[in-house]
Amino acid sequence: MCGIFGAVAREGDVSGALLEGLRRLEYRGYDSAGLAVVTTRGDLEVRRAEGRLAALAARLRESSFGGSASVGIGHTRWATHGAPVERNAHPHRDCGGELVVVHNGIIENYLDLRRDLAARGHRFASETDTEVLAHLVEENLKAGAGGPADAGALARAVHVSLAGVRGAYALVVLSRSHPHTLVAARADVPLCLGLARDATYCASDVPAFLDRTREVIFLHNGEVAEITAGGYALRRLEGERVERAPTRIDWDAAAVERGGYPHFMLKEIHEQPDVLAAAAFDRLDEARGDVRFEDPLFDDDERWRKVSRIDLVACGSALHAGFVGRFYFERLARLPAQADFASEYRYRAPLPADGALFLAISQSGETADTLGAAREAARRGLPVAAIVNAVGSTLWREAHGVVGTHAGPEVGVAATKTFLAQLVALYLLAIRAGRARGALTVEQGRSRIHDLRALRAHLGALLEGQTRAAIARIAEREKDAKGFLFLGRGLQYPIALEGALKLKEISYLHAEGYPAGEMKHGPIALVEKALPVVALATSSPLLEKTFTNMQEVRARGGKLIAICSRGEAAASEVADEVLEVPAVPEDLAPLVNVIPLQLLAYEIARLRGCDIDMPRNLAKSVTVE
Ligand code: GLU
Repeated sequence: MCGIFGAVAREGDVSGALLEGLRRLEYRGYDSAGLAVVTTRGDLEVRRAEGRLAALAARLRESSFGGSASVGIGHTRWATHGAPVERNAHPHRDCGGELVVVHNGIIENYLDLRRDLAARGHRFASETDTEVLAHLVEENLKAGAGGPADAGALARAVHVSLAGVRGAYALVVLSRSHPHTLVAARADVPLCLGLARDATYCASDVPAFLDRTREVIFLHNGEVAEITAGGYALRRLEGERVERAPTRIDWDAAAVERGGYPHFMLKEIHEQPDVLAAAAFDRLDEARGDVRFEDPLFDDDERWRKVSRIDLVACGSALHAGFVGRFYFERLARLPAQADFASEYRYRAPLPADGALFLAISQSGETADTLGAAREAARRGLPVAAIVNAVGSTLWREAHGVVGTHAGPEVGVAATKTFLAQLVALYLLAIRAGRARGALTVEQGRSRIHDLRALRAHLGALLEGQTRAAIARIAEREKDAKGFLFLGRGLQYPIALEGALKLKEISYLHAEGYPAGEMKHGPIALVEKALPVVALATSSPLLEKTFTNMQEVRARGGKLIAICSRGEAAASEVADEVLEVPAVPEDLAPLVNVIPLQLLAYEIARLRGCDIDMPRNLAKSVTVE
């Protein structure tokens, strides 16, 4: 899950660009950071520091490079092998300090490789899996024909080295002997190139160089790129050349900045009314009461009629969206649906069902468990559809059909706007399936579309209204609580799970999400004053039953915070605190109710002094199993 950044410029110094690129990738990992450059004097210099990027910047101020450098690579680490300390920080060197490697991923056979390399006399300086790559390239560069004058020698050495490597990687190699070239490769971990007029960049993710260029080449699995200031050459690991036209990315560079908010997470929470519009509005076909997707797979009515079941598979917040999606498909399309953890699904060997459609959900499109499950489903012959935010990501490319969520880059590690966008995508897909299968009439489709359009104003009002003040008050009072319990029924149960997950992720308070009706089978034993209970009690046919569960909490001296639809007074008699949200049709309530829970987690984390955008032990885009 590390962030990789590399730059080769025609002239000038790239160290500032490297630090800036890493800053934009720091959300991917922040255990340590490091840079390596070849200076104009021909020295290969490395600076590394444990902890955040700021520590590396300070190190560079104390000990700057001994000259300007027009080529370099950088890394921000999320440790998988070896403690998060300086000696394990990337870039990693070969024995002679002649070349360096940065890597994202896991080399699965590194122990065997390391043993063999050590037997041949290589000395290791770290406990990482990555370091074997530096020694392998060293060996193959020495063994290969052609010296510094042979521009292709480094790329060939990387090719030969990777033939014996098993695992997932994106890597970039820089060698003192080839100071005008970077060699990059990918297998199952994202890597892209940015093509500017006077420089070429490579990075784990597009926002890293979006202020410098919008022309992007996405590397595919099994490809090796030779990168120079003037461009790039792509080859498959097996050797043949690959031609690929760049993709133009239209994201606004300012969108990756905080835009005046103290944290990306708060900015992203506030973007949700616009995200709803971006994810839905140009797909709505009012006249036919239907939805049109860019991908023709979803337009085929005949295909939808043949679908017998939907297998929704995801991780984390995306799975919570999947739990809501299950209701949508069952209600709107009369289509059986099940939702499962990707990490469980892929090893459970699920029974194939004729006509089942596999639907993966992932913000990054690089989530290792989700990709693994999708590949397993494809291997079993299921058609694979995907809901993905990151355009051009692996899942995006590998799925047979894709619904892009159009939420733009999400930087805060805790998902907010992309969760909402996933709910929108699922709702749209369920309308489409319902219309295709005759489960929804034109009128019913129209009315659902109308509700969705009206939702934008409701979300806007919720973010501006008094809810914020009430949440700030609750957060102040409960910031030192022992933990939280979130309760909901039906469509609100996944939102209870999501509320608990947000709080855990960013405030480090223990929290559980539970189906309200299940509480009496165990968790009710937890109820006491120091454990606030948040009940999702917005309009629904099950509301009376939820009230009963709230009474049960109340009767045992528990502290109750209720999320209620505006104008529904009943909850105020039961709850200690009521958070009013706009009244919307029940099926859309998850999109509304999640917002106060995101804000509650945010406020509590802020008051507890937590690092909201980069919570401990976590990273965005989980590219390891
Ligand atoms: N396996 C490498 C390390 O531990 C890279 C980790 C990653 O990409 O998450 O340093």
